[in-house]
Amino acid sequence: MLRYFTVPVTPFQQNCSVVYDEATRQAAVIDPGGDLDTLLGEIDRHGLRLEQIWLTHAHIDHAGGTAELARRLSLPIVGPHPEDQFWIQGLPQQGAMFGFPAAETFTPTRWLHDGDTVELAGHTLHVRHCPGHTPGHVVFHSPEMKRAFVGDVLFAGSIGRTDFPRGDHATLIASITQRLWPMGDDTVFIPGHGPESTFGRERKSNPYVAGT
Ligand SMILES: [Zn+2]
Ligand SMILES: [Zn+2]
Repeated sequence: MLRYFTVPVTPFQQNCSVVYDEATRQAAVIDPGGDLDTLLGEIDRHGLRLEQIWLTHAHIDHAGGTAELARRLSLPIVGPHPEDQFWIQGLPQQGAMFGFPAAETFTPTRWLHDGDTVELAGHTLHVRHCPGHTPGHVVFHSPEMKRAFVGDVLFAGSIGRTDFPRGDHATLIASITQRLWPMGDDTVFIPGHGPESTFGRERKSNPYVAGT
């Protein structure tokens, strides 16, 4: 069975999720933005063997710890979509922009595209390209867990910012309504910040997307 837990990392309290197989203890981390010692301590405490890094997008609070973590544990970096390459290249400058220590750039082992899948211990998660917050943002959907890891696309009661370079509000709304809603109203999503919710609840009460 696939399970997960979330560790808030960086001063932005970014929800870094660790997905793992309960039996084999193989794990993948989604968005290791920083605080690697805390994160690795939690992974250790759960008795997991970390095998992969999966990225939703390349903002520093999500991707800032990627290069160091990949190097320390010799891990493959999977994602995001190639349209986020300029954000990866800008990681050192993002440190200054967001008030973080400088982060290293990296080259993903594998870029992700809409319709791709990622595998962990025989379990499959589906990749959807959800641009708008950043142009190369992807989300990871596990039909098995009825969970979606959506980064900064959608939050409980809010949506992602679109005032960054190459952000676009209409594109973000289209990503949410065309690529997230079809996952089902009862699917629980884990946003990049703040509490979990379901797509059904957001469709009813989120002021940015209610009734869509
Ligand atoms: Zn972001
Ligand atoms: Zn974020």
